[in-house]
Amino acid sequence: MRQSKLFTKTRRESPADETAKNAQLLIRAGFVYKVMAGVYAYTPLGLRVLDKIKQIIREEMNAIGGQELIMTSLQPPEVWQSTGRWSDEVVDVWFKTKLKDGNELGLGWSHEEAIMTMMGNYINSYKDLPISVYQFQTKLRNELRAKSGIMRGREFVMKDMYSLHASKADMDDYYDKVIEAYKRIYQRLGLGEDTYVTFAGGGAFTKFSHEFQTICEAGEDVLYVNKAKNIAVNEEVLDDASSEIGIAKNELESVKSAEVGNIFKFGTEKGEQMNVTYKDADGEDKFVYLASYGIGVTRVMGVVVEKLADEKGIIWPENIAPYKVHLVGLNREDESIVDFTDGIYNSLKDKGVEVLYDDREARVGEKIC
Ligand code: ATP
Ligand code: MG
Repeated sequence: MRQSKLFTKTRRESPADETAKNAQLLIRAGFVYKVMAGVYAYTPLGLRVLDKIKQIIREEMNAIGGQELIMTSLQPPEVWQSTGRWSDEVVDVWFKTKLKDGNELGLGWSHEEAIMTMMGNYINSYKDLPISVYQFQTKLRNELRAKSGIMRGREFVMKDMYSLHASKADMDDYYDKVIEAYKRIYQRLGLGEDTYVTFAGGGAFTKFSHEFQTICEAGEDVLYVNKAKNIAVNEEVLDDASSEIGIAKNELESVKSAEVGNIFKFGTEKGEQMNVTYKDADGEDKFVYLASYGIGVTRVMGVVVEKLADEKGIIWPENIAPYKVHLVGLNREDESIVDFTDGIYNSLKDKGVEVLYDDREARVGEKIC
């Protein structure tokens, strides 16, 4: 890509109302464009990073048998009523609207009920299970506060995976595989060292869910962590979890952190509420087990910026950098040098190397600083 053709330009200033470091840096470097609080567009540079993050996640989800699909943003109330999650008192982030015929509609903030409804149509017998499906979906949430830049969007990209099973043992087994896959993902994203599998508030089926929390000053959560023992607990469940694990609170150090992933076992709860069943080997109807696994794709991008940037700006881990090479053409007034750098650019491109070529007629200081 020739930098002279990029419509985004690096800027010295970020919008006055943007307080989050991640968004300030991303806006200044031309990776995102702020539409309003909590709503950001991704420019060609930002999209390349986002696509690379997605690709890493996709590879790891495929490796454990995940099948990619895409659900819908438009959600009919019936799908959510059977579990009580259509209620604004239960779920306080719904964006709701109406069809022209007056019927209500919600915009997808999550997709457990949507998946269960759909899968109910495909599952007949135990032979159809297990199934693991995932998507990259733009989630819409009417968040009260959106002051953390792309780390808390009202519109944001999530990877959500759902696994359906015939037994608890099978669900437990798969859940453990997902934990390992998630560890590989955060490792490949450059966050491995500071990301902890964390005891967090659970659903109805298990006492705890697991969050993946990355130590980060800009995060909104507080984590209690013992680095040597590799144990982390969300502040919200500290008393419960510390007694359950058998670790004294004074062995845990408190740090700010960002929730970059959250995984849950629903067990048969949704199957029972929504009447999603399969026939076992004896032909008897049994409720399907469900677990769900989220990763905040755009939040992860924000966390990488927050954690790895230095005083000169964003530092991308090589795996997710928008380009592998930034070729900076200097002395543009000298035609032979321009020819020379053009040659390097073309040969890198021919070799399939992703290269951003700064071919602009600009001062050296503007290019290198
Ligand atoms: P939070 O506690 O931060 O509000 P949550 O627990 O409501 O998040 P989940 O429903 O567990 O979120 O969503 C799965 C993942 O999606 C989270 O672990 C987080 O990484 C990401 N996520 C959730 N809300 C947002 C948001 N508003 N903007 C960006 N990412 C988000
Ligand atoms: Mg969560």
